Amino acid sequence: MIGRKFKKLVEIWRTIFVVMMSGVQNPLLKIKIRCPDCGSPMVGPNGTKKSGKRRVESFICKNPDCLKKKRKKGRKKARQFIKTTSYEFKELIRVKLKALYEDLLRDGAKNKTIAKKYNVSPSQISALRTEIETAIEKHRKLDSLVEVSQLDKAIAVDETFLKIEGKKVYIIIATGYSSRKVLGIKVSFSRNEKDMREVFDEAERNTRYRIATVTSDAWSSTISMVKNLGREMIHIIHKHKKPHDKAVIKRYEYIDGERVITTIGVKTNVTKKRAKRQGHYMITKESLNPPPSKKCGRPKGSKNKRKGKTSGKKKKRGRKGIFKVFDKGKKFYLKVDPYRKTVKLSKNLPASVGAALAEVIKLFARKSIQNNVSENLNSILKSHLKLCGPKTIETVERRIRAFIIVRNDPEILDDIRIARNVRGSFYINNLKLIELPNMENWVMSE
Ligand SMILES: [Zn+2]
Repeated sequence: MIGRKFKKLVEIWRTIFVVMMSGVQNPLLKIKIRCPDCGSPMVGPNGTKKSGKRRVESFICKNPDCLKKKRKKGRKKARQFIKTTSYEFKELIRVKLKALYEDLLRDGAKNKTIAKKYNVSPSQISALRTEIETAIEKHRKLDSLVEVSQLDKAIAVDETFLKIEGKKVYIIIATGYSSRKVLGIKVSFSRNEKDMREVFDEAERNTRYRIATVTSDAWSSTISMVKNLGREMIHIIHKHKKPHDKAVIKRYEYIDGERVITTIGVKTNVTKKRAKRQGHYMITKESLNPPPSKKCGRPKGSKNKRKGKTSGKKKKRGRKGIFKVFDKGKKFYLKVDPYRKTVKLSKNLPASVGAALAEVIKLFARKSIQNNVSENLNSILKSHLKLCGPKTIETVERRIRAFIIVRNDPEILDDIRIARNVRGSFYINNLKLIELPNMENWVMSE
């Protein structure tokens, strides 16, 4: 160290006691006193501090770097703290809590199994689950799924469902491709265009830049949602049902009051290996002023027509439409290099084809075109919700949001620890549950 000499500091150790209801104190463990901010054991005594009705021993951080950081933030004094807010104590609890919470969130883990592991009752575990979620909810409003705006420009939109009292309920999720965080979510009885749009809008509120690319399955509401955003977008559509062999990429542009749609059809494994491959494309234009809607009801004079005339031929309906580019589109060739993330196209192709494929190779180099960011989450969500108590659409959404917030930013568990002091009922109750399941009637002492 340069400049003035520092007094040699001696490590401070303290014992954590538990106080039985009878008043008997039992030592629980010894901890080294360290600064909660910098983790340094360079600390000194600092008189006493009021804590509840009593006064407790206080400490102050003597780490010059820590003080420097504080000053930068405009604070004059070094960090002061007490035993139960010191680094090691908090760390101890954080580790316990995190382990337990991870157990609670782990795919397929049952209340019963966890209860057995921690030697407490399943109902206590379920209470604990609720308490953790409530703590998360209080700490961060559930409407913000991420702490800071993410850099994603591409999202995957995906739906899964569960049943609430026999009724199908959809969970619509938007996940960022680069952050791998869930950026938007909605729990709903329907999954129409408006539902999809809400999830998209929430995702965009959580990103720094505008979202330019969406991947999803061929659900028609998602397709119209992306189309009706009314701005330049790329939509990469993969089949949800087997065989997962075809993908369609749509690129929307707006030129002179028209929506210009470039549709490309490729095999889903087109970006997997270095190879020359083929694709199909077509370009369609739509006026943005929609044509007058068709008249309702039957055409005039058709009342007495024999029915069943059309039923002989089975009309192909639904999703076929989106994959028609494979039959109707123009064939072209592309050279794919997933290692360099490049696509070379045969000459004289419209620029929009190249632009769309450049985005595809960016997201799916060396992979198949499919949902590779949120499918795993679906099964986790489902099993997580299976364990939850009474369900309504609101409680389900609340739980999912809390779950996702922790998944997005696991450090939030640390923040919760800071927000709710160790003396709060949360820790007293739950440390008791975790640490000493067989000891009844005791409280933490400082
Ligand atoms: Zn410090």
